[in-house]
Amino acid sequence: MTVLRLVLGDQLNRCHSWFAENRADVVYVFMEVRQETDYVLHHAQKILAIFSAMRQFAEELKLAGHRVDYCRIGDADNCHNFPANLDRLIAHYQATGLQWQQPDEWRLDRQLYEYASSLPIPAKALDSEHFFTARDEAQRLFQGKSRWLMESFYRTMRVKHGVLLEGQGKPVGGLWNYDAENRKAWPGIPPQPPDRRPTHDCRNLWEEIQTAGVRSFGNPQAGALRWPVNRAEALAQLNDFIEYSLPYFGQFQDAISTQAPRLFHSLLSFALNVKLLSPQEVVAAAETAYRAGKAPLAAIEGFIRQILGWREYVRGVYWAKMPDYAGSNYFQAVRPLPTWYWTGKTNMRCLAFAIGQSLDMAYAHHIQRLMLTGNFALLAGIDPQALHEWYLGIYIDAFEWVELPNTLGMSQFADGGFMATKPYVSTAAYIDRMGDSCRACRYDRKARIGERACPFNSLYWDFYLRHASLLERNPRIGMAYRQLAKMTEVELNGIQTQAEYCLGRMDEL
Ligand SMILES: Cc1cc2nc3c(=O)[nH]c(=O)nc-3n(C[C@H](O)[C@H](O)[C@H](O)COP(=O)(O)OP(=O)(O)OC[C@H]3O[C@@H](n4cnc5c(N)ncnc54)[C@H](O)[C@@H]3O)c2cc1C
Repeated sequence: MTVLRLVLGDQLNRCHSWFAENRADVVYVFMEVRQETDYVLHHAQKILAIFSAMRQFAEELKLAGHRVDYCRIGDADNCHNFPANLDRLIAHYQATGLQWQQPDEWRLDRQLYEYASSLPIPAKALDSEHFFTARDEAQRLFQGKSRWLMESFYRTMRVKHGVLLEGQGKPVGGLWNYDAENRKAWPGIPPQPPDRRPTHDCRNLWEEIQTAGVRSFGNPQAGALRWPVNRAEALAQLNDFIEYSLPYFGQFQDAISTQAPRLFHSLLSFALNVKLLSPQEVVAAAETAYRAGKAPLAAIEGFIRQILGWREYVRGVYWAKMPDYAGSNYFQAVRPLPTWYWTGKTNMRCLAFAIGQSLDMAYAHHIQRLMLTGNFALLAGIDPQALHEWYLGIYIDAFEWVELPNTLGMSQFADGGFMATKPYVSTAAYIDRMGDSCRACRYDRKARIGERACPFNSLYWDFYLRHASLLERNPRIGMAYRQLAKMTEVELNGIQTQAEYCLGRMDEL
């Protein structure tokens, strides 16, 4: 009697009840497959980090006495997709059962269910025991609502899980949300926290990946990969974040800097998304830091909101709305992605820096994603599907369940405002206020028109003009339309001509 338990590359949860006991009749199976490396073009570090973490996890299981069957990317008998490899393993072990943990991606969920339903042996999916919420919990909470407000979801979660509460279900400090205190630009002080992330030599693995013919982009950093690939490293990174960055996380959460790629962000998304860390322990560590007086409430609340609020909420949106959500395109945007999204070679200094950093580190923080690459794409009418594939490929933490709602819903308003109350767009003024890239930029942050005018400016107003029929009744955007109403015909024509000029030579911007 042998039961196969499939462990996916983003299910490296050592605390899962599967691993609580050693069972001689269970074989844990891991697969490095082209199906997963190739569904979009991935950043090299993403492939390296996932495979490294999978290999270390499998080794740890073996050391703990579990039976493991690991299929490497270069193995001759690797069929490079889950069903064919599972067929092979079921035959090899004469398996009497198959189990897997519920995948977080719709695509894999379907594939494994369909595969399992064709099997002659019992097969079942179990909970991944990772999230605060069940897949359908947000849907149940928002039953019948046409808009899902994250803030109300977040408050419900705070109460349900007893996080940052005092008295009878009241928020500590009296407020649920301290966002108003979290919008400062970073003046260079305090300095960035020390980067004590581990360094891994992955050159052999990189060789295997390349020999197998896997395509990728971005800097592999194979000799010095800086992502945590086991639980001990992930926990150390969490501790470092709490100690050095969390105290400043809130204030500078919305800042952008060419001097500091991460600012005070945690860099924990990879460890969380592959389940080396649990969201519960990360939230608990932040709350403990608050009770110990190690960081201000605004910082801690802001950080906890990202995990207990946003992360669980986007997962809820994903499971409620897939598969149709993937096709959302409210503005019917069709332009291809400018070529410099793949190279970072643009004269817009903010974007050159954010994209260059992403190619180098496979990481950009939230405001770089939302207010630089996302902002530009929305203003320029880029096809949201092309942009989604780009985000899904480039970031170390990109898994569709979390990337897709963030890209289509939050960043591109492609769902027509189901997630966001208004489109996240801005002129150069916002980018200048929150960052340090504009002053040395080839473009003039203050000009709307002319060869040197920052493209964000004309594209911003042109975006509102182009989409007036869809947006002008939105009360949260009233100000923009009131400003447009005050502009003269000549000004409006100038803006539109400038925007057309920018859109016509997008690759050269
Ligand atoms: C267009 C776009 C695409 C994105 N794609 C992804 C993605 O593929 N994977 C991903 O994990 N996050 C994604 N995000 C959310 C967010 O940008 C990243 O989680 C964050 O930048 C990761 O860096 P960090 O760990 O330093 O985060 P921190 O700023 O330190 O935040 C702490 C944690 O909170 C969680 N978190 C923060 N914001 C969000 C959010 N909006 N949605 C879900 N979780 C959040 C993450 O787990 C993160 O590690 C995206 C955001 C945008 C605007």
